[in-house]
Amino acid sequence: MFIDSHCHLELLKDIPAVMGMARKAEVGIIVYNSVNFDTMKLALKLSEEYPEIKVALGIYPIDMLKLEENEIKEQMDFIRKNKKKIIAIGEVGIDLMESSDFEGQKKNLELFILLSKELDLPLFIHSRKAEEKVIEILEENKCQKVIMHCFNGNFKLVERIIKNNWMITIPTNVTNSEHFQKIIEKVPLSNLLCETDSPFLHPVRGMHNNEPANIVESYKMIAKIKKMSLGEVEMEIEDNFNKAF
Ligand SMILES: [Zn+2]
Repeated sequence: MFIDSHCHLELLKDIPAVMGMARKAEVGIIVYNSVNFDTMKLALKLSEEYPEIKVALGIYPIDMLKLEENEIKEQMDFIRKNKKKIIAIGEVGIDLMESSDFEGQKKNLELFILLSKELDLPLFIHSRKAEEKVIEILEENKCQKVIMHCFNGNFKLVERIIKNNWMITIPTNVTNSEHFQKIIEKVPLSNLLCETDSPFLHPVRGMHNNEPANIVESYKMIAKIKKMSLGEVEMEIEDNFNKAF
């Protein structure tokens, strides 16, 4: 079975068709990462309809900057209430490309770090133009269960991620990304997971509407670079997934 560790299904038009394609492609687990209150509720609803959908609840850093304190509290309480139905907190993090408000985003990320410790759940981390700062915050808070999603930081930072024994995802656009091919080369297989980030990061450059069925492209690239069979990679990634969650 293949596992898509990170995607955004609300942005895909025909979810039944997408799920049908995923089943055909032997994708057995799809982790739906929410980004706001609406997608949190949708993720939980879809996970009841489709047993292969697992849920991460969180608020995207830019969405969170727009919330009032009482709204944040309400949404955090919603996550607490649904603790038993979810496998992770995400996606959360810091994005300095979309907003320069570092202090505001840091404060919000720290709320989620506390929540992840309280609920003993891993964090799906988004970091853009803030990779080193995010790693510092996670280290200062002694976070142990971390999945760095679509990590574009340099290789000194990748080494820190490995040293902390956190996970890194290989997105499906690895097919045309030297950066992610190099990550496969440098990072031990035991620290890797795969993601489509659907509908983004399509394996074919210029194509849109990526979907979980394409996750096999990440697996194929790992098999090629690590010189393993696809079946071996499949088993190892499943093992990693079970350990990470
Ligand atoms: Zn994402």
